[in-house]
Amino acid sequence: MDIQLIINGTYVLSACLFIFGLKLLSHPETARRGNRLSALAMLIAIIVTLLDQQIMSFDMIAVAALLGALVGAFAAKRVEMTSMPELVSLFNGIGGLASVGVAWASLMADGVSTFVAFVSFLALVIGGVTFSGSVLAWGKLSERIVGRPIVFKGQVVTNIAVLLALLVSGYLLVTAPNSLNMQLAVLLIALIMGLLVVMPIGGADMPVVISLLNSYSGLAACAAGFALKNNLLIVAGALVGASGIILTSIMCKAMNRSLVNVLTSGFQPVVTSDMKIEGEIKPLSADDAFYVLEAAQSVLVIPGYGMAVAQAQHAMKELQGLLEENGAEVAYAIHPVAGRMPGHMNVLLAEADVAYEQLFEMDEINPRIDGFDVAIVIGANDVVNPAAREMKGSPIYGMPVINADLARNVFVLKRGMATGFAGVDNPLFFKDNTRMIFGDAKDTLNAMIRQFAD
Ligand code: NDP
Repeated sequence: MDIQLIINGTYVLSACLFIFGLKLLSHPETARRGNRLSALAMLIAIIVTLLDQQIMSFDMIAVAALLGALVGAFAAKRVEMTSMPELVSLFNGIGGLASVGVAWASLMADGVSTFVAFVSFLALVIGGVTFSGSVLAWGKLSERIVGRPIVFKGQVVTNIAVLLALLVSGYLLVTAPNSLNMQLAVLLIALIMGLLVVMPIGGADMPVVISLLNSYSGLAACAAGFALKNNLLIVAGALVGASGIILTSIMCKAMNRSLVNVLTSGFQPVVTSDMKIEGEIKPLSADDAFYVLEAAQSVLVIPGYGMAVAQAQHAMKELQGLLEENGAEVAYAIHPVAGRMPGHMNVLLAEADVAYEQLFEMDEINPRIDGFDVAIVIGANDVVNPAAREMKGSPIYGMPVINADLARNVFVLKRGMATGFAGVDNPLFFKDNTRMIFGDAKDTLNAMIRQFAD
């Protein structure tokens, strides 16, 4: 049989496995299978590509795949769940860098056609932007660099100048693809652009940027696929590019913002709210909270980043069992950007075996929050901040939040009065129906569990 037919057939098989893998990832129960299927597709793709291009022998393929798998598994195992966005950011950057490498190699070849020169230019630019932007985002997320937006005088003019320089050098590169000077110029400009794009973004907008960079890494791979005339790379790149854009759009919607608004947030004037937070903090002990919980018919759990830090999901699941034994209905409200990565809370709760049917998205739960006797806010802050509804001028004004304050009683489990990721004060803590239960969330939940057991 024609070897090219077998190779293309295998590529189609890989592409189908990628698509089925993505489909399975959309539900927690099937997500693991989806992940395994996509990994298998990637393995097939790597082996077939390397064989097709006669790049290496079987032994070399095995050694390289083993080394890559070891590094990936080690990084994924070692990283704390709370640092996942940083890891994703680094992986995006490496994806961008790989496309830069492919583009560069294509430009170095003899007799490069205008089409290949153009798509290689695209891969070089998008890959370069993705690499430097992702490294900067990683620095910001891991607090190696200040997390707030960085703006300087004349930044908009600089951006326009850099864009013009890119267009000119891009034209020169496409007309003379072998020119090392032009290759370096385009790469340098792309790296600067990546920094300029991410610099003015900060705070709570970082997840959107990570998702956008993820999409860029896919587009860079797609362009590299055209340069190499590799169908599978085109398909896989397009899948990553499209899913990244869809996720970006979902996150923007969750924050009630447009993408342009997020990308230019650093340039917008700072609006301050003149509304003062009224009321006082009312601390409560875990032991006293137990009496309210014991009498509750319905309890809504609202997890946030602090639950991940405290690793309190297992304790919460145990408390859930005790509450249910006691006759209460328990539901979980999940905000799309709770925690530090999309789906963060779903992953943690799935790990603790909380049934998927008990998880409700913000839009589903908000209309019926006033029916709950108690809302237990576990380490969530920004995603339950009523300033988003009430305080015009607050940096998070307009962001859809879970309206925890509308429950009959609100228990907020956190260690102190620190602000959340967005760095804004939270009027929820001062409301009449709110009680603050200070301490590590897991310790607090364990104290409640002990009370039930006694
Ligand atoms: P926040 O970051 O707003 O608040 C977390 C709270 O948890 C803090 O106020 C902290 O208060 C508390 N906390 C920390 N450790 C513990 C602990 N051990 N026990 C109890 N409480 C603890 O979290 P949210 O989930 O409400 O909001 C997520 C924020 O992160 C949003 O602004 C979102 O935009 C942003 N973001 C989201 C990403 C995503 O994709 N989901 C990615 C990156 C950012 P204290 O120190 O007083 O205990």
